[in-house]
Amino acid sequence: MAKQTATPNPNQTSANERLKQRDLNVLWHPCTQMKDHEHYPLIPIERGDGVWLQDFDGNRYIDAISSWWVNIFGHANPAINAALSNQADTLEHVIFAGFSHEPGIRLAERLVEITPPGLNRVFYGDNGSSAVEIALKMSFHFWKNSGRTKKTEFVNLANSYHGETLGALAVGDVPLYKETYEPLLLKPRTVASPDCFYRDQDETWESYSLRQFDHMKSELEQHHETIAAVVIEPLIQCAGHMRMYHPVYLTKLRELCTQLDVHLIADEIAVGFGRTGTMFGCEQADISPDFICVGKGLTAGYLPLSAVLTTDQMYDAFYDDYETLRAFLHSHSYTGNPLACAVGNATLDLFESLDTIENNKSLASVMSDSFAHLNDHPNVAEVRQTGMVLAVEMIADKQTRSPYPWQERRGLKVYMHGLENECLLRPLGNVVYIMPPYVISPEQIKHLAKIATEGIEIATK
Ligand SMILES: *Cc1c(COP(=O)(O)O)cnc(C)c1O
Repeated sequence: MAKQTATPNPNQTSANERLKQRDLNVLWHPCTQMKDHEHYPLIPIERGDGVWLQDFDGNRYIDAISSWWVNIFGHANPAINAALSNQADTLEHVIFAGFSHEPGIRLAERLVEITPPGLNRVFYGDNGSSAVEIALKMSFHFWKNSGRTKKTEFVNLANSYHGETLGALAVGDVPLYKETYEPLLLKPRTVASPDCFYRDQDETWESYSLRQFDHMKSELEQHHETIAAVVIEPLIQCAGHMRMYHPVYLTKLRELCTQLDVHLIADEIAVGFGRTGTMFGCEQADISPDFICVGKGLTAGYLPLSAVLTTDQMYDAFYDDYETLRAFLHSHSYTGNPLACAVGNATLDLFESLDTIENNKSLASVMSDSFAHLNDHPNVAEVRQTGMVLAVEMIADKQTRSPYPWQERRGLKVYMHGLENECLLRPLGNVVYIMPPYVISPEQIKHLAKIATEGIEIATK
């Protein structure tokens, strides 16, 4: 087959357009049907500054989605830049087996400090999916080392998402990403979600999530002898259309897992580092999982780094003479990269110096006030919010709650309207949401609400 080369349109020779053509000649972008770019823009970004992204033609966009949920303190943050540049001058990388380094040690100490009690051991990975794989392997391996070789299964929630590599994909449940690869994947036991979108009219989140726990309870009671772990996203199923649930579900789940000898893996890759209003989602249920996976905001959107934190009990089951072959022999080339760890430390410094968790409370209430009017929109099923995540679900019929057919791609209209008005909003299907960097101003939030409202108006016509 001949190589396809995009032909530049001679009428559009802006800097953006030239880069777009070069890009389309060689690149294959993530989570993208590349043919879409025959009709939809591909925007090369020249620079970032706080919440702003600026393209090569001088257009700017408020990054309302924190560049895929990673950026928490804005682009080109001076404090993080300084930490990164200092570390680059000192040590860029070193093998993390047999060798160690100060930024990696310090970050681990601090992660142990700020995560729920009992999570005393840190294993680094280099992206979120890897962290999930590490937790799955550790859980299985713990049971094997403990002589419980029948415990080989995992339980997940309907509509969950845990990443894209085969193991992480397998324990997710978003058909769009998963269905094609089904023959390749291990089969988890999937339990109905506590997602409160489906609660009865006038039912509270708490009552619905509690009711949904019955499904989990019967699954675990029947099958706990073959189950290694339950893997769950605390409070928000982000990739699953920002669906939310009440912390009581996590409290109940922790109790039951303890009672039945099943591990609890909390995937806080998207919700950790303040997204839900607390540093970690688990805090709102007052629980400690057996594993917590963190990534994304860990480096404030600067560099790929993830970590799995676990308990002494887990660690001890692997700690033995070499010849017993009980060690956890998992590795990634960039495990514990010093640049990423230095940035992680600078990120945690900012949480302290800016009193972020406290200050986000008022930003979260500006978010809720600015979007509240959409509750009355005839094609909005609900406006929901947990901390620094607010989502608006568009719907074809508010009475019957029937959705718009996905093929209509109504969210794209909101996306396009956003781009024309200095906003990067990137709806998930029919769900328009904001998940902004914490350095956003109240005025900028109000602008996002105005443009999102107009976009929803256009998209639901
Ligand atoms: C993004 C995400 C992952 C995967 O992280 P990557 O760094 O993209 O591999 C896993 N779990 C959750 C909940 C996520 O949102």
